[in-house]
Amino acid sequence: MPPFDDNPHEACGVFGVYGPDDDVARLTFYGLYALQHRGQESAGIATSNNGEFALRTGMGLVSQVFDEEDLAFLRGEIALGHTRYSTAGGSMECNAQPIIVRDAESDAPIALAHNGNLTNAEVLRADLEAQGIVFDGTADSELIAHLLAIAPGGTWEERFHYVMRRIEGAYSLAIMTRDTLFAVRDPLGVRPLCIGKMENGWVVASESCALEHLGVPFVRDVEPGEVVQIDSAGLRSFKPVAVPNREAACTFEYTYFARPDSRINGTLVYSARERMGAVLAREHPVDADIVIGVPDSATPAAIGYARESGIPYREGLIKNRYVGRTFIQPDQRIRDAGVSLKFNALSEVLAGKRVVVVDDSIVRGTTTPRIVSLLRRAGVREVHFRITTPPISSPCYFGVDMATRSELIAANQTVSEINAHIGSDSLGFLSLEGLMKAIGRGQDKLCNACFTGRYPIDVQMQMERIEAARKEPALAAAESLNRMGRA
Ligand code: SF4
Repeated sequence: MPPFDDNPHEACGVFGVYGPDDDVARLTFYGLYALQHRGQESAGIATSNNGEFALRTGMGLVSQVFDEEDLAFLRGEIALGHTRYSTAGGSMECNAQPIIVRDAESDAPIALAHNGNLTNAEVLRADLEAQGIVFDGTADSELIAHLLAIAPGGTWEERFHYVMRRIEGAYSLAIMTRDTLFAVRDPLGVRPLCIGKMENGWVVASESCALEHLGVPFVRDVEPGEVVQIDSAGLRSFKPVAVPNREAACTFEYTYFARPDSRINGTLVYSARERMGAVLAREHPVDADIVIGVPDSATPAAIGYARESGIPYREGLIKNRYVGRTFIQPDQRIRDAGVSLKFNALSEVLAGKRVVVVDDSIVRGTTTPRIVSLLRRAGVREVHFRITTPPISSPCYFGVDMATRSELIAANQTVSEINAHIGSDSLGFLSLEGLMKAIGRGQDKLCNACFTGRYPIDVQMQMERIEAARKEPALAAAESLNRMGRA
């Protein structure tokens, strides 16, 4: 993980177009561009051209993977796109998506793009391997594709019933057959997925910002547990399995992952973040001269804090937006200087000031002390850190790469110990109630497991696997290699 990168990481963006009159690959390219913040490791586009599939995938950013030649090659009426951050399976080209498998009955191709993480992947993999299925990669997404390929039944309802009864965890899927585009969301609705309508066609995307960039009007979110089927007959929808009476949309989509201009489950992310800042100001007031945010995700919350507290908002940290996840590690001289390649402090704004710094999370506690020392070097008199989430004390098993429990600082230290560790003058976390109020959803509609340790589904198996990996050096090494792949 690069220095100054202690943020949780998201697991992918998915995009699909059904558009017989459109250049579907180009639309998908721009859709993925808008979803680039959800994964920068690999990207891929698959198309169906009168039933003929074409596929291009590669490692890197969307702009690095595709050129005009690729878009000319990717012709068709339906397209599927994916941008990936690996949480399950390593960082390698064989795990790039969309994945294409062959229908066991008809041999017709099926392409799949997945955002999320299955919680029963190991059992499923063993089961499918026992049936003689050979996997190309290590990602859990491939399991879903193969399950759909072997699913019995004469209708898609029956086939999705077979698949969704078996898979557990978080999955927002875009799936393409020769003539149909599907959008599927898990019964808890952990990851977002929405639908837009073109003049003669439809778009599905992880976030509504991707629709807006293409001038495609937003229609609605895909509902938890819903399968949306789009073909020449139009759009229809069904729910193949019973949906629980609770939802578990990931709270971190609102605080950090999603773009502020996206609307998730009816809430504009920007407004939710502003409200988080306002509630934080009421819960943790402090005498200060200015409020700054850690860019970019905490900026709306800093504005909300400033407005509520009456303390002026200023920009005090400037982010180098071109520091990606794969940049070359700094040499010893840069490390010794203790500077950041990701942020620079504006000493003209900060010197001599008492500063409220709003950020969205403290995960391992490796980034925040560096920000504090950066601010001190810029002459800040007092640093008051305010965080728009409660302390993160439990790992995520639903597709967010955070850390194991032992690495989570809030699992092992009190708030005052964390304050001493990061070197700030004061530290305040938003309460869970305050966060729910700011998002405008109740706890029965959100996953808050990384704050509460109460998971919306059984994750015992993953916990045991991670615990075993910690005890077994060989397994631990494998786990660590996998984590390096993720970072
Ligand atoms: S555990 Fe945390 S990061 Fe993971 S899905 Fe739930 S709220 Fe999101």
